[in-house]
Amino acid sequence: MWCIVSLIFGAMIGSFLNVCICRLPNEESIIWPGSHCPHCNKPIKPYDNIPLISYLFLRGKCRYCKGSISPQYPLVEGMTALSSLLLIMKFGLSLSFLFYFAFVAALIVITVIDLYHQIIPDVISLPGIGVGLLASLLIPQITFFNSLIGILFGGGSLFLVATVYQWLFKREGMGGGDVKLLAMIGAFLGWKAVILTILLSSLIGSITGILIMVLKGKNSKYAIPFGPFLSLAAVISLFYGETLVRWYLGLNR
Ligand SMILES: [Zn+2]
Repeated sequence: MWCIVSLIFGAMIGSFLNVCICRLPNEESIIWPGSHCPHCNKPIKPYDNIPLISYLFLRGKCRYCKGSISPQYPLVEGMTALSSLLLIMKFGLSLSFLFYFAFVAALIVITVIDLYHQIIPDVISLPGIGVGLLASLLIPQITFFNSLIGILFGGGSLFLVATVYQWLFKREGMGGGDVKLLAMIGAFLGWKAVILTILLSSLIGSITGILIMVLKGKNSKYAIPFGPFLSLAAVISLFYGETLVRWYLGLNR
């Protein structure tokens, strides 16, 4: 029963996340006006705005102008619904569920915005740091001290990497947005998960970088944003962090 409720809840929030993804980078209001077609500007009727289902029913096209609707919409709705389901299975119906769902929702918005625009909006990451620290006072998964160290360590380590990189190569390798994002991840997950997130994101990022070089040619100057890798690594740390650390320690005994 809760599984179905959490899926529907997640899909609805996912629909709202799509609005944030489209409007936050342009500094538009996320509340007003209601959704409209990006091609013909016609307002979208509530029955055409049902998460996932409307996209399938309309076959990815606007009802009026038949302009194509980006697969971003069902993808984000589906991912948010799945996250909601996995989190309710992990935490049950609790305050922890709400905080970690907000955390994953923020990561989804950051990932898609970073992929489109190569920016991580401060309006998500900075309040996110505060919410994570607040959560540590209210939920049993993390202590206030661990959250605080996570913020300082997450922000500090990437800040150091970014500064050294800039000094060595005389160009910006990592944006300030990534620094604030890892501080937010530290706030929610603690300092150990920050280490795991750095390791995992570097690994996944390197593999992806090599794949893109192979597929697109060695000299392609395609800038890969780092935010999506940090976000993915953070989600892996959230669900499998303890298992991974135990496996790693067991391997080195
Ligand atoms: Zn249209």
